[in-house]
Amino acid sequence: MGDAVRQIETSGADWVHVDVMDGRFVPAITFGPKMVGDLRAFTKLPFDVHLMIVEPEKHIAAFAAAGADCITFHAEAVTHQHRLAQQIRDMGKKCGISIVPSTSVSCIDCMLQFVDLVLVMTVNPGAGGQKIIEACFEKTATLVRLREERGLSFLISVDGGVNEETAAAACRAGADVLIAGSAFFNAKDKRAFVHTLKGASKDTPIDEGRARLPRMSYEARP
Ligand code: ZN
Repeated sequence: MGDAVRQIETSGADWVHVDVMDGRFVPAITFGPKMVGDLRAFTKLPFDVHLMIVEPEKHIAAFAAAGADCITFHAEAVTHQHRLAQQIRDMGKKCGISIVPSTSVSCIDCMLQFVDLVLVMTVNPGAGGQKIIEACFEKTATLVRLREERGLSFLISVDGGVNEETAAAACRAGADVLIAGSAFFNAKDKRAFVHTLKGASKDTPIDEGRARLPRMSYEARP
């Protein structure tokens, strides 16, 4: 795992995305805060921790203490989303909210002003290497429109099935952040892979709007 994190850093990628699965919200089980804490020693890149777990409110403090920079929970797993978002921000962390492919953007409409990131799942979470569900791009386009209308500045990330072929379409639909798992680790030349994905975000119709967004800034790590 340490090697994997080092590969991410040397590839030129900006963040390390950590998929936490509990065997309940999704069928698979990955790891918990101990792994996040152990990996912290291998890179200074921000950790974008994606909690695909039930009752995330019980684990926020542990992931924050372990070194998460942004903590994303699933709207489907939390009743009191506003309270949880405040708790995450009160810990000095960025807060993300995520929706699975069957959840509409309207379900998180009230939360958009309280989060730093909206993660749109473009596969059903739980396994790597799945084919992207392009219908989910309608959601990123909707999010771009709502962000513009309301003068908000959350980032939009796309998670699931992102590769060199699908990246451009995801960016055209409004993704600011591309999350790649299987495609990254299967790529022989990881620097070239990251370069291609970053290139996909250029020259898209919404590029101008995206340029006005503040970059997610994190405190420098010693
Ligand atoms: Zn993820």
